[in-house]
Amino acid sequence: MSEESQITISIVVPCLDEEGAIPSLLSRLDDVVAPYGTCAEIILVDDGSKDRTWSVIEAACEREPKLRGIRLSANRGHQIALTAGLEAARGARIFMLDADLQDPPELLADMMHMMDQGYDVVYGRRIERHGETFFKRATAWVFYRILNAMSDTDIPQDTGDFRLVNRRALDAVLAMPERARFVRGMFAWVGFKQIGIEYPRASRTSGETKYPVRKMVRFAVDAMTAFSTKPLKFATRMSFASLGFSALMMIYVLYSFAIYQTTPGWASIVVVISLFSGVQLLTLGILGEYVGRLCVESKNRPLYYVADEIGSRLTAPDQGN
Ligand code: UDP
Ligand code: MG
Repeated sequence: MSEESQITISIVVPCLDEEGAIPSLLSRLDDVVAPYGTCAEIILVDDGSKDRTWSVIEAACEREPKLRGIRLSANRGHQIALTAGLEAARGARIFMLDADLQDPPELLADMMHMMDQGYDVVYGRRIERHGETFFKRATAWVFYRILNAMSDTDIPQDTGDFRLVNRRALDAVLAMPERARFVRGMFAWVGFKQIGIEYPRASRTSGETKYPVRKMVRFAVDAMTAFSTKPLKFATRMSFASLGFSALMMIYVLYSFAIYQTTPGWASIVVVISLFSGVQLLTLGILGEYVGRLCVESKNRPLYYVADEIGSRLTAPDQGN
């Protein structure tokens, strides 16, 4: 039997500056993976951390044979770090988790049970969110609603990357070569049989969120451009709206010319110019987002490079692409 088929469950955890969270993560995971014995592996991906995350991972891997560590050459972002871990995973089933324990790893047992009933993907759906700012909760709420209204793929609301998937769903996602990776959307897109499981989301065990507003915006724009072309149609709609507006303006101009025998003043000109230059810039910006992404995709660069690897890899490593 090949090494591949002996692993029943791979747990993939992307980590950026999580030196404080990893020890409690590993002790919680200990109990969770106990039933699977040596058939479980835990893959910690260090996404170019600036703190001691990699030394913590190295030390842990030396103690515990089921642990594996992968260090990326630089910070590539949560979604790509997750992808690196998914590509390295050898299990028949794969469980995705954040390092900060906001999502309870103990849910794995229930998720495994649901998967036994024939589901390919069991995703976690957050019913409450503790310890997150109002801003974060509000932006997440709005984001998932807009994304769903715009996208043809039905992306489950209020889910994260916390999910259990089987080999065929994972292979389907890994066959998608795109750079702008919105992993939870990609799993929704591949189809198969999926089901959600509800849970309350806890606060971080340690440290701060690794998603500052800048990364949140990039994440949202990536998701939007990868899963919807509706923003592009915005230009066409706006041109109809502006035609209507100009028609009204023309009536007003003719009317004031007839009554006052004067040309209309600068106010209307300023209004029209600023309105339409705003619309044009916005439309150009939207085009720019898509063209920029085409440009990035067409370069076809590898998603990440592995700088270091440690742990129980018995088969020859095939370098991720
Ligand atoms: N993360 C990562 N690279 C990044 C940002 C985040 O690997 O560039 C990891 C982080 O260590 C955590 C997970 O992705 O395990 C989710 O990040 P975080 O908990 O900060 O996000 P939030 O829960 O606040 O949305
Ligand atoms: Mg978190």
